[in-house]
Amino acid sequence: MVVENSIIKIPKNFLQNFAQLDNGAEWVKYSVSGNGSCFYNSAAAALNYNNYMKHSVKSQEAIGRNLRRQFQREINENSWSEFWKHHNLQHVAPNYLKARQEVADPKTWANLWTIYVFSCWTRTNFIFYDMDNECLPYCGITTVNPAKCPQRPKNCMLPDSKWNLVTIAWVNKSHFDPIMVFKNYCKSCQMPTHRSQLVRKNHNLVLNFKKNEKLYKDILKKYNQGKCSGKTIQDAALKN
Ligand SMILES: [Zn+2]
Repeated sequence: MVVENSIIKIPKNFLQNFAQLDNGAEWVKYSVSGNGSCFYNSAAAALNYNNYMKHSVKSQEAIGRNLRRQFQREINENSWSEFWKHHNLQHVAPNYLKARQEVADPKTWANLWTIYVFSCWTRTNFIFYDMDNECLPYCGITTVNPAKCPQRPKNCMLPDSKWNLVTIAWVNKSHFDPIMVFKNYCKSCQMPTHRSQLVRKNHNLVLNFKKNEKLYKDILKKYNQGKCSGKTIQDAALKN
């Protein structure tokens, strides 16, 4: 069992699927609570919602719940139908009452549709990495069919090129944890006692990636090279 609020390095054999980092920086997985709200906890961590990263595990759970509740409040019959109409996806839109109920229930996992709406609500692009599968990165949250994107701008497959990017691990097909960059990873970082207080002198966690940064572009390049880059959430929903 991985301790919550701790980091572990992304295994070496997965690194070929991740953008290369500067010396001393490491791709890490940050463990969040797995209480049915792990997607919202992951998002809260990556967006540092209400200063999530500075809090104890207990407070972090409350912050994750709070983010979830905020999101739920945004879902009403009107906003929901407008959203899907705007994206030309009325025909696949989940029922608004059911969606709202699912977001309200802290034990219900976020599904792909919900994550897509959440992505647009927070104006954030999400890329997921399947930690049990070589197909990494396996899913960017998009509804854009690659065939409609002939010029293939760098992140044509994600909702919006002006938004920041968050990377999330899909673990054991049952849990989400955010993936971050830990700068100046040192030898002592292997020791849990050293890691427990994450932001120390000469250490720095990069929670999410800003457009125009080189790393943002490198991550998208890897994503676009991946065999699942063209997969839309409609495709993914059909298979599940
Ligand atoms: Zn260290």
